[in-house]
Amino acid sequence: MPRQIRTLPPGTPGRPRNWKELRRRRRRRLWLRRLLLLGGFAGAAALLAFALPGLSRPVLASAAPEDTAIRQEAAPQTAAEALPVVAIDPGHGGDDVGAEGLGFYEDEMTWKTAQELMALLEADGRLDPRLTREEEETITPTERAARVREMDAQLLLSIHGNSDPVYGSAGYECYPVPPGRARNGESVRFGELLAQGFEEAGASLRGENGVRYLYYDEDGDKWITELSDPEVHWEFSFTLLEQCGCPAVLSEQCFVTNSADVAAFGSDTGCRTSARIYYEAICDWFGLTPS
Ligand SMILES: [Zn+2]
Repeated sequence: MPRQIRTLPPGTPGRPRNWKELRRRRRRRLWLRRLLLLGGFAGAAALLAFALPGLSRPVLASAAPEDTAIRQEAAPQTAAEALPVVAIDPGHGGDDVGAEGLGFYEDEMTWKTAQELMALLEADGRLDPRLTREEEETITPTERAARVREMDAQLLLSIHGNSDPVYGSAGYECYPVPPGRARNGESVRFGELLAQGFEEAGASLRGENGVRYLYYDEDGDKWITELSDPEVHWEFSFTLLEQCGCPAVLSEQCFVTNSADVAAFGSDTGCRTSARIYYEAICDWFGLTPS
């Protein structure tokens, strides 16, 4: 089949109408090429002038100071970027509302508290606080743990509320990474700071001192031991604590089923109080004075 030749109608933009215009265009292109060539020469000359004194020195001697200079220049930027990351995990969320409290669900309280805490940490500016989930996001503990590892967090606080629909119950308790796992000691230190903060704010501490270990047995039943029990248990604790890869504590802020607890640590003002306690404990853990 013969090849079809496309013809453009006269006056189509970009198509020269006559030889005069074609010549003008060629001349313009020539000038442009000359200018580019000139620019290239000038650039090369400047580069040579800059590089020649360096070339006259021995390569090893000249490489070292330049290298140091680059590193010194880069250092402040790296320091500014490398604020310690604190993962803040608002428990539950999305389809998982958590325990039913007195007129609210647990996930509303954990979100509110996390927001207050984020505001305090951001205003402080010495740490890099990051949330493990969005407001209405449904997310599993395994996915939360993966996010904490991805953000390379140095500390994790998981915020929850206790519940006892029958007796209401009362008091504060938290669960650090248990014995036998890496970072147990650093997690306990954070747990103790939290329990101390809540006690000072008027909470009663559950168990021996509010810092306890929780395990699930093979039937999925929970059982709790006290901080004074150093025994290493093979049963798993909370998935998030087992998998997050950093010092971590799960905090049961208050009983969402107890009105006095809610007023103190779960209401709007209560969430603010709790956030302040978390903020101060986080600062203490990092060796910073709370502002
Ligand atoms: Zn919970």
